[in-house]
Amino acid sequence: MEKVLILVIDGCAPAYLTEQTAPKLFALARQRGFVKAVRCAMPSVTNVNHACILSGRWPAETGVVGNYYYDPNTGCEGFIEERGYMRAPTILQRCQQAGGKTALFTVKGKVLGVYGAGADIGLSAQDPDPVLLWRYGLDRPPTIQSIEATDWIVRAACRCIEREDPDLVYCTTNDYIFHHFAPDSEPARAQIAAVDDCLAQLAASQPHRQIYITADHGMNQKKTILNFQAMADRAGLRTYCLPPLKDRYIENHIYQEGGMLYVFLKEPLQREAFLNFAQSCPQVEEVLTAAQAAARYHLPQDQIGDYVLLAGRDCAFGEVEGELLCTEASRSHGSEYEREIPLLALGAPRPEKAYRYHKDIAAYLQF
Ligand SMILES: [Zn+2]
Repeated sequence: MEKVLILVIDGCAPAYLTEQTAPKLFALARQRGFVKAVRCAMPSVTNVNHACILSGRWPAETGVVGNYYYDPNTGCEGFIEERGYMRAPTILQRCQQAGGKTALFTVKGKVLGVYGAGADIGLSAQDPDPVLLWRYGLDRPPTIQSIEATDWIVRAACRCIEREDPDLVYCTTNDYIFHHFAPDSEPARAQIAAVDDCLAQLAASQPHRQIYITADHGMNQKKTILNFQAMADRAGLRTYCLPPLKDRYIENHIYQEGGMLYVFLKEPLQREAFLNFAQSCPQVEEVLTAAQAAARYHLPQDQIGDYVLLAGRDCAFGEVEGELLCTEASRSHGSEYEREIPLLALGAPRPEKAYRYHKDIAAYLQF
C-alpha cells in the first residue's frame, strides 16, 4: 500500500509558503515534486475544506457547508464539532477499509470530532489523549493559539510515522498565527520554518512516502466589517444571516467575520425587497440566489439559505456592534479572495497539471 502524509496548514495563503520561508521543502520539490497554487472550495472556511480534502469531493457531496449550521424548519442551530455531518467517505475510511493503518493529528479539536471516523490513531492538541502522549513520548501540548502548537502537532505526526509507520497520516494546524500576522512577519515565518525543518527531515528518512503540504483556505486583511443582520433588521427585512465561518475559535476572528454569508428569508414575500436591498449595499460585491451559488460552487442548494452574499476583497460580514466597523486589525477568510492556496507535493502519482484543487490529492490516491 502507498504511504501518504497530507499536512493542511490552516489559513496558509500562498504568500506564507515560499522559497524563502521553506527553503528545504522547496529544494526537495525541485528534485522530486512540484509547488504550485491551487484552489480551495467555497466558502473558504475550515470545515468545508477539510471535508473536500479528505474525500476528494465538492461540498454538494460532502454536505459540509460551514463551521455552523442552521435549520430553518426547526430553528435549530449550533457549531459543527462532532460526527454526523460528513456524508462522503473519507480517505481515512477508504484506507482503513483497504487494510491500511491511519492517523489524524490536529491542533483544533473539532477536526477530530467531525472527521475522526476511520482514524486508527487520533490526536488533538486541544484535547490530547494522554495514552498517545505517553506512547509517542510527547510533552503536554502548548496553547493552541501559538506558533509552538504548529511545531508540536507536526512533530507529533512525524514521531508517530517514525515509530508506527501508518499508511495514511493527515495532519492539520490552527490559523491563529495567520489571522494575526501577515506573510512577512516573524511569527508567520517561524511557523513555516518549523514545518520546513520537520518535514524535510521526514522526507529524507522516508523517500518513498508521498508528502503533500496544502491549506484549507487563504487569508487576507479585512478593513470593513459589516453587520448585515443588523442592517437587514433595520430595513424591516425578516432574515436569519449565517456566516459559515462562525466557530468557537473567537481568538482567531473576534467578530466571526468572513467573506460569505448565507441568508435565510423568513418572509417569502420580501424576496424582491431583499434583493434590492442587498444589491444596493456597497460592501456586498455579489448577491447570488441559492441556485446560482450551488451551481457555481458545487454547494448543496438546500443547505445554504435563499441567498448567498459575497463580500469585496477588503470586507467581511461579521457580528460587530452596530452596523459597520472599520479596522486595521482583522485578517480573515471565507470569500473568493481566499481561494488560492499552495500545494507542495513530493512523490505525487500524477503530473503537476493534474492538480487544480486541494481535493485532487485524495482523488488520485489508490485507496
Ligand atoms: Zn480561520
